[in-house]
Amino acid sequence: MRSRSKLLVLAALSVAPILADEGKWTPQQVLELDARWLKQQGLELPVSRLWDPKRGTGLLAAAVGVPGCSAAFVSASGLVLTNHHCLFSLIQEHSTPQRDLITDGFVARSREEELPGKTMRVTVPRKFTDVTQEVEAATPAGAADLARSRAIETKQKELVAACEKTPGNRCSVGVFDGGLQYVLIESVELTDIRLVYAPPRAIGEFGGEIDNFRWPRHVGDFSMARAYKDGKPYTPEFFFPISRAGVKEGDFVMLMGYPGRTYRSLTATEMANERDFRYTLDREILGEWIKLLEQSTKGSADGSIAVAATLKSLNNSHTRAEGQLAGLARGALIDKQKATDDAVMKWAAGKPAWAKALEAKKELDRLADERRKMGPHDYLLTLVNAGSLTLRDAAILVRLAGERQKPDATRDPGYQIRDMRRLQAALERDQKSIFRPSEEALLSSWITRAQKEGIAAARGADARTLLGATKVDQAVERSKMFEETPEQLHARGDPMLELAFTLDGALREWKARADARDGAVARLRPAWRKAVIAHAGKPVAPDANSTLRVSFAHVKGYTPRDGVTFTPHTTLAGMIEKNTGEEPFIVPPSILEAAKKTKAEKIPVDFLSDADTTGGNSGSPVVNGRGELVGLNFDRVWENVANDFGWNPDVARNISVDVRFLIWLLEDVQHADHILREMGVKQ
Ligand code: ASP
Repeated sequence: MRSRSKLLVLAALSVAPILADEGKWTPQQVLELDARWLKQQGLELPVSRLWDPKRGTGLLAAAVGVPGCSAAFVSASGLVLTNHHCLFSLIQEHSTPQRDLITDGFVARSREEELPGKTMRVTVPRKFTDVTQEVEAATPAGAADLARSRAIETKQKELVAACEKTPGNRCSVGVFDGGLQYVLIESVELTDIRLVYAPPRAIGEFGGEIDNFRWPRHVGDFSMARAYKDGKPYTPEFFFPISRAGVKEGDFVMLMGYPGRTYRSLTATEMANERDFRYTLDREILGEWIKLLEQSTKGSADGSIAVAATLKSLNNSHTRAEGQLAGLARGALIDKQKATDDAVMKWAAGKPAWAKALEAKKELDRLADERRKMGPHDYLLTLVNAGSLTLRDAAILVRLAGERQKPDATRDPGYQIRDMRRLQAALERDQKSIFRPSEEALLSSWITRAQKEGIAAARGADARTLLGATKVDQAVERSKMFEETPEQLHARGDPMLELAFTLDGALREWKARADARDGAVARLRPAWRKAVIAHAGKPVAPDANSTLRVSFAHVKGYTPRDGVTFTPHTTLAGMIEKNTGEEPFIVPPSILEAAKKTKAEKIPVDFLSDADTTGGNSGSPVVNGRGELVGLNFDRVWENVANDFGWNPDVARNISVDVRFLIWLLEDVQHADHILREMGVKQ
């Protein structure tokens, strides 16, 4: 990637060779970091092993994506290791009250026993190309913001279409810091993914929501799947060997993966919007939905299995929202950002080269103020995707029918021919998660809130009546609807579809608002960020955007509050100590038995390091300086949840499961030697 940001990074490097540990670096940036510094940190491999600039790939590409998470290839036969919570929907897909894999776990004893998933996929990065100039050249000078954003979207679709002409390619355009840089990412997408191993829930989720985002932690949050291509196990170019030696306090580690979204490049005014219209509403609305799901499935084994994946993800988002809000307040992060913004403005004032940057900052803040007016209304519209599946599916079917009328190139992203298979699989898959009483509770809550916000589609709507009359929640009918035109859908007289047609108008208006804002941001953010980076005088990694990143770190404890210090490792002994015999602290008898034959205090379970991570980094491989896998990231500590808004080295700790716990479990408890042999851990 050649880019202006590269020049900025290089310019900054000559000023300040000393780096902090902050930074989710792009593969290209790794090559631009000071190699001596990396060596001092503990990197034993040549940097070019991590990323070969000539080929545009390297060991980093053994870190792959799974939906919403990261993962690692750990064998030459496509074995993928990720978190239990990242494969949870695949585990749920195969669970019934009679064969409850969620509760009991699963070990495939042979390839034939592996369990395929309808919507699971693994994305393997192949090549990254800077396309900033091309995207900018496609933007008409002086265009209005909506037109600019649509021109950028059209260019992105063109680039993706051209890239996907290469057989087997799945492509996307990564937007960095609102348009400072655009990168075309070529990947191989593997869609035949089969479950190989899942621990019982009591291990994979030990501590549940009580321990979520907390330390000390004692959870075996890992599972395994195998990627197939053309019916055969996939042979990855890179995979991580396993280190049996593990890590100890002070050791260097690298964490590779796909961090989802952070807000560090925003101005203080923009950050306040995220606090008020994302996390404050998440805390309130998701909190209510969690209770509704729990109440509506009480005493029903079918219901509990149906909503298990939704409930888990709502719980996680809810706890995260609480953590973000607590951390923002405790760290006064928005005030700190304001002070940084002010310092940059003061530094730039009176310098003609930065006049545009100052203008851009003012305009970004003005846009943020404008956005506040529609905050809760627009956020409720986005929640159509997070609650009742019947409502969500109706909205998808209606949008799809509308988009299908257009030529492929002008359809909304997500509704092009390239998306059909994925969309169809998702709609089919939803059947496993639809449970009528829960649907009614969630839909009713959304309708009440939407009525308050004046969303027209909700006017006069009643959840029970709608669900009593609709066929959207029936798999066979839904798959027929998938092929239908808007006229055919209308002809059904299905009230849920009619609601979705009205809602579609509001969703399209919302998209136009969001696109216009994106168009403005693409015009403004790069100018402001260049000033911020120049003022910082050191390399600055872009905000997370679900693209491949690496973070350099050390195994390290921390002090969460006055008088308390945490060590960086937990052990099996600690897990057993936490055993109450009641959820979520039940240590299964098989573990208690196996633990008697070993020194439990010598079996590491989880560890802390100071890697720079966020949501989406779940399942990220954590490797030592030789590139050997020592752990799997799954979480951050409570004091660090708000690191999405600002970095604080004192509490910046991520939590990983120690690979030695995985090995012990597979060897001594589950007797899954065939998996250990495949990973090269056992002869
Ligand atoms: N467990 C987290 C997640 O929700 C990972 C994190 O936020 O650090 O993806």
